[in-house]
Amino acid sequence: MKFYLETYGCQMNVSDSELVSSILLSAGWEPASGIDEADLILFNTCSVRKHAEDRVLGRISNEKHRKQDNPALKIAVLGCMAQRMGKRLLEPGTGVDFVVGVDQYLELPALLNQDRGIEMDFDSQQIYPGLKPLHGDETCAFVTITRGCDNFCTYCIVPQVRGRERSVDFSQILTDVRDCGDKGLKDVTLLGQNVNSYRWGDYNFPRLLRELNKVESIYRLRFITSHPKDLSDELIDAMASCDKVCEHIHLPLQSGNNSVLKAMNRKYTVEDYLLLVKKLRAAIPDISITTDLIAGFPGESESDFEQTLQAMRDIQYDYAFCFKYSEREGTAAQGFPNQVPEEERLARLQKMIDLQREITLRKFSTQIGKTVEVYVESLSKKSDSQVSGKTRDYKIAVLSGSRSDIGTLKTTKVIKATAGTLICA
Ligand code: SF4
Repeated sequence: MKFYLETYGCQMNVSDSELVSSILLSAGWEPASGIDEADLILFNTCSVRKHAEDRVLGRISNEKHRKQDNPALKIAVLGCMAQRMGKRLLEPGTGVDFVVGVDQYLELPALLNQDRGIEMDFDSQQIYPGLKPLHGDETCAFVTITRGCDNFCTYCIVPQVRGRERSVDFSQILTDVRDCGDKGLKDVTLLGQNVNSYRWGDYNFPRLLRELNKVESIYRLRFITSHPKDLSDELIDAMASCDKVCEHIHLPLQSGNNSVLKAMNRKYTVEDYLLLVKKLRAAIPDISITTDLIAGFPGESESDFEQTLQAMRDIQYDYAFCFKYSEREGTAAQGFPNQVPEEERLARLQKMIDLQREITLRKFSTQIGKTVEVYVESLSKKSDSQVSGKTRDYKIAVLSGSRSDIGTLKTTKVIKATAGTLICA
């Protein structure tokens, strides 16, 4: 029996899909080479924005016709949307046979022996101990170090669907990272909704980084996501002193206005955030800083929004993931007064994107003439004589090379830049 798994949303879902693949493989399932030969289609879904959910519902609706040719075919919905919508996904006409929450993947093989069903728990402490993910990528790996979130940002559905924060056993993380290096996955990213609050016995996140930095078989260590309220001096110190920890941090600002940050329950001010940026740049001069920003949060005035644009100009992010506010059922912000009209959210989003594009191009252009180290991840999509990969500071780079360079570090010179790619020699 063959399965086909489609993944939506963040890297946490990519990592969870690797766990699911591993569970199905151990239960005797085989991966299908395409959706056409699948006996089971799984959608690992995201609930962060309404658009992400609508996309998956559209995909399921497009694929359910396959059951006419293959009545044995089953469709399963996993992940955050499964957790949020639950039984509603099993209503007649949806085409869905199984719904499995984010902490019930071990139950999946038994559930598949039934005709239809649901597995869900809203108070789980699951960390999938001892389970080896089936890494799909040949060169880079994601290793989950925390699951869930305790922060309850008022716009975010994650704490409701992924439960309370818990950390993975240090020894399991160490084994996973060593295994990645041994298998040739030399660029490892530690994952969590807020990695900075990792805690296992005496191990906090800076200590975890220092220990993993000793793993000889990997070249690079990264982490996402950092909550500004938990970014300590100790962590900045560890980042600066660990040679494998790359010069990049993803530090979501969300808004440049203190009243909006308060309404978002972010627990820091713009001034706190600017101080962190100053400390990071003092300790790691070439650090690249990326962020997440939301346009049109309820109550955000035109001048509040202008402050976000000003923060972007002041901080000069290397890249920013810009979103318009998306109202989510079950979040505190859903009931907030003064919702910003949709057209206004879109107009503000466009201003953010345009500004960031200019900044990114300028930042990338400052790299021209510099020598950079690229970890080669794949052949370039545009040319057989070029390969692509990432610099230590998380910029995509294209350079001369061939298939044999994949998985190796190359030192090269930047000769050109676009607002997204460094073109190297
Ligand atoms: S830190 Fe805030 S935005 Fe991030 S997952 Fe937790 S609640 Fe959501």
